[in-house]
Amino acid sequence: AMYTAKERQSGVEVYDAAADGHDRGRLVLLSEFRRGMAEGHLVLHYQPKVSLRTGAVVGLEALVRWEHPTRGLLLPGDFLPAVEQTGLIEPLTDCVLDLALAQVRAWTEQGVAVPVAVNLSARSVHRPDLPARVLSALASHGIPAGMLRLELTESALVAEPARARDVLGRLHSAGVSLSIDDFGTGYSSMGRVKNLPVSEVKIDRSFIAEMATTTEDAALVRSVVDLGHELGLTVVAEGVEDPATAAALAELGCDVGQGYLYAAPMGAAEMTDWLAGRLPAAVTARA
Ligand code: C2E
Ligand code: MG
Ligand code: MG
Ligand code: MG
Repeated sequence: AMYTAKERQSGVEVYDAAADGHDRGRLVLLSEFRRGMAEGHLVLHYQPKVSLRTGAVVGLEALVRWEHPTRGLLLPGDFLPAVEQTGLIEPLTDCVLDLALAQVRAWTEQGVAVPVAVNLSARSVHRPDLPARVLSALASHGIPAGMLRLELTESALVAEPARARDVLGRLHSAGVSLSIDDFGTGYSSMGRVKNLPVSEVKIDRSFIAEMATTTEDAALVRSVVDLGHELGLTVVAEGVEDPATAAALAELGCDVGQGYLYAAPMGAAEMTDWLAGRLPAAVTARA
């Protein structure tokens, strides 16, 4: 717990046990995370992005998990918020890039050329060294930049837009594809997206979940699809869970779906089998 000088002087103990326990829990988590990352306990699960027109797999999204020695498999929500508040988020990004590109390499060698998308935290988008780190990861695995897509949320662009624009511009110039994730939440605006070298928007699953039953959500999805297409963007729907929603999305002209309807995120070995079951025709280079 923290005490202000005044509290100390007055001798009044303002001790917040809950906050203190929380701080300690966070510190333990972060030190375990640091060690877990070094010991190779971060793993990626992959989820397919599927063409709503043809059913072809147009790419995979890599989603980080932490195989915790005692707590089992942890999801990003269990550790990312804490990690994102520290410098550890940059090593995490590098680790995820390394794992994802090594896997792309392995799949390529098995004759499966499937582009992969990696998520970026907001802070990473402001790191001037990010493009060099991404390019060095690509080079070390011998993967062309066009096989990598980076997903970022619009909140990443609000703080220092000029700096983010510079970083994204350099990634785009190098041939890396960029997506806006969770579109429709927070600070979303197509006006902002229009001025960025982005080729894809992903409509947040909160709008997809209820588009079949909620007029406002259906209207939002329709307008993102139409405006996105006018701007030359591929439009992806996240969180597609049932055939009726997939059909409604296809009807609106939405390009790509992702969600439990097609497959939940799965480990690399399972994904290898899943992809093999859809070969030879199903895997294409891009939507
Ligand atoms: P996201 O990028 O929007 O990823 C989609 C999330 O929705 C994933 O949760 C996925 O498992 C889940 N999902 C997929 N299909 C469905 C569906 O049909 N229904 C429902 N209800 N959920 C579905 P996950 O893996 O827990 O990841 C949560 C978030 O953590 C991601 O959201 C992303 O923002 C972040 N994240 C994941 N991996 C990384 C990473 O390597 N680096 C960074 N910086 N962030 C990551
Ligand atoms: Mg994402
Ligand atoms: Mg998303
Ligand atoms: Mg989302």
